[in-house]
Amino acid sequence: SGATTQASPPLGRLIVLTGPSGVGKGTLMKALLQRHQELYYSISATTRSPRPGEIEGKSYYFISRSKFEQLVAQGEFLEWAEFAGNYYGTPRAAVLNHIHSGKLVVLEIELEGARQIRTSYPSALNIFILPPSFAELEKRIRGRGQDSDEAIARRLNRAEVEIAAAEEFDIQIVNDDFETALGQIEQALFS
Ligand code: 5GP
Repeated sequence: SGATTQASPPLGRLIVLTGPSGVGKGTLMKALLQRHQELYYSISATTRSPRPGEIEGKSYYFISRSKFEQLVAQGEFLEWAEFAGNYYGTPRAAVLNHIHSGKLVVLEIELEGARQIRTSYPSALNIFILPPSFAELEKRIRGRGQDSDEAIARRLNRAEVEIAAAEEFDIQIVNDDFETALGQIEQALFS
């Protein structure tokens, strides 16, 4: 018959990786990006100071509190939150542009931001990464050796609250064996 097959426009999607600090979601994200170069990783803005080895514009955009507050007032963030005494936010325009051009856009953010995305962007896929146990998470956060005792204490307190919220999200993945966890994320994204 006269039926024609028309190419549908590419459908972008927003993927959110969340979970407590120290759970290894940054490392999982890095591996994911290395294996799947078609993904677009959203680089966040933060008021935290750079850690050794972190690169401006690659790890984060490191900005002042006043600049951050100005961007909030201008509606420039898709979501933002205060975490352990610093602000973190996802630049809105870059994310939306990439979704509209058909990309899979991945965010790696903490709980409050993930909740905002769930509300403001219901079609997002929300993946929560869990540690095998709280004791293991504590070991990882302390072992990272990059934060002050006070920062570590704040992160541990916060981790307990975050873990309790895991069930709010679409998918829960335990980061016990790294390759297994990575495979589970890939399955959620690509199948
Ligand atoms: P860190 O200081 O260890 O780099 O990040 C602290 C926490 O902030 C982590 O859980 C990280 O995922 C989260 N985070 C990083 N960027 C953003 C962001 O743009 N928005 C929100 N809500 N959290 C973020």
